[in-house]
Amino acid sequence: MLVRVFALSFSISFLLAPCSFAQLTPSQTDALSKLQASQSTAACSATEASSCAQAAAKLMPIILGDSPMIENLRKLTDEIGGRVSGTPEMAKAVQWGVAGFRATGVDVHTEKYKLPVMWKEGATRLIITAPASATAGGAILRAVSEGWAPGTARDGIEGKVIDIGDGGDAEISRAGNLKGAILLVHSEIGSTWPDLFNEYMRPPGVIARAVKDGAAAILWTGARERLLLYRHTNSLNGEVDKIPQAVVAREDALRLARLVLAGQGSSPGKVRVKLTMPNEISGPVEQENVVGEIRGYEKPDEVVILGAHLDSWELGTGALDNGCNAALVIEAARAIKAIGVLPKRTIRFILFSGEEQGTIGSYEYVKAHATELDKIRAVIVFDDGSGRTTGFSLGGRTDTDAPLRKILMPLETWNVDEHTPDASFGTDNFDFLLEGVPTFVANQEVSNYLANYHAASDTFDKVDQRELKMNTVIAALTAWGIADRSEPIGKRLTRAELDVMVKQTGLDQQMQILGYWEQWQSGARGRKP
Ligand SMILES: [Zn+2]
Repeated sequence: MLVRVFALSFSISFLLAPCSFAQLTPSQTDALSKLQASQSTAACSATEASSCAQAAAKLMPIILGDSPMIENLRKLTDEIGGRVSGTPEMAKAVQWGVAGFRATGVDVHTEKYKLPVMWKEGATRLIITAPASATAGGAILRAVSEGWAPGTARDGIEGKVIDIGDGGDAEISRAGNLKGAILLVHSEIGSTWPDLFNEYMRPPGVIARAVKDGAAAILWTGARERLLLYRHTNSLNGEVDKIPQAVVAREDALRLARLVLAGQGSSPGKVRVKLTMPNEISGPVEQENVVGEIRGYEKPDEVVILGAHLDSWELGTGALDNGCNAALVIEAARAIKAIGVLPKRTIRFILFSGEEQGTIGSYEYVKAHATELDKIRAVIVFDDGSGRTTGFSLGGRTDTDAPLRKILMPLETWNVDEHTPDASFGTDNFDFLLEGVPTFVANQEVSNYLANYHAASDTFDKVDQRELKMNTVIAALTAWGIADRSEPIGKRLTRAELDVMVKQTGLDQQMQILGYWEQWQSGARGRKP
């Protein structure tokens, strides 16, 4: 859900079509040897003949050849399935992560924290109750609860439907008295990264207004066509949200809007629905992040983190978001371990939980490791499915751009060079970013990510296996390069520097809208002033 400045589409390098070098055609083999020749001059940093070229040459056959990654991913998605933080499925996923790291030979442990709430959707039901003419086309509308939405009373909430358009202030004011009403909010079909970003940025204002004006519930029009249902949360701090909310299948929501519009002349306020959402809410509940580690030989107390979240929503099986990248992190650990050479610094491979509830697992990790933050040299995160990696989002800084290019030089023909100086809320780098640690979030092509976002259709078959393997090479080389170069890739930013960065990138506005601003201002979250 990051803002993407641009998303150019390059075709994949010819070299990478096959998953195994054994399948290369003669012209591809020729291209490979040329690539390897060009790698011999590449180093991890400007001041040394470092190891990035050699590392890349060793990592590629390990990852692109036969590997357990795809079978690991199949087990996670098909056999464990959707894994909402706090559920038994999530506990199984943690076991999967531990077993996955153990099989690679790296050290592994888990770190516990408390998630404020445990949440499970009940039998959500949305029915048109009046007028009778409106139910003629079918009274039942397809809907699911938003994640971490409060439940309704057992027998539901019944109320008139008020269409508040896109939920902007002017439209809400025009809508009149909202007390006790069930609000219907429209949406555009989401197909770009900025669309997705807006799906998160718009609701907080609508929710605040709905609560203030005494509305009973909010119905969000689905942003995907063909009755596809999905959910995320608008709460973003792990706590239960302030008002019951459901996502209504787009076609059903649009029909409801037309019924409301048709009734406005003759009988305003006559279209009524009943929303029943008996969500099961309890907690707090103990959760775990899974941490694999390869200790550095020269500066073991300096750490490079490669991370991805392991949790998912459960309508689908969380393959694109984010099972494939959890598998990527384990595979990168396997490959780096298998090259048989230690990096100068320690590399930690972390599978975070609680991400979908507002990056809770990574926030808790940052809090628990507060005294180490001066020595956490970088955090690399993958969280955009299996689309081609075009570069990295550098978290509001440019000083890390040149050294990153140096590290990725051995993959020059892959065009992983669109590094962007943006900074955004949206995945597990967030709290490291606010602490001034250099962060790198993979910029990836949208591919089929948004079409299946958090939906029933986010399943194993959607993952582009070849692209995932190439992304794994990029992830492993980036982690290796930052860990093995002589100098740190960038300094830890001071609070004063972060204050400038937050303004320049517009992260200040994001934090205000999403409810993080007060904590940031007071120093409760992020680097202390
Ligand atoms: Zn994700």
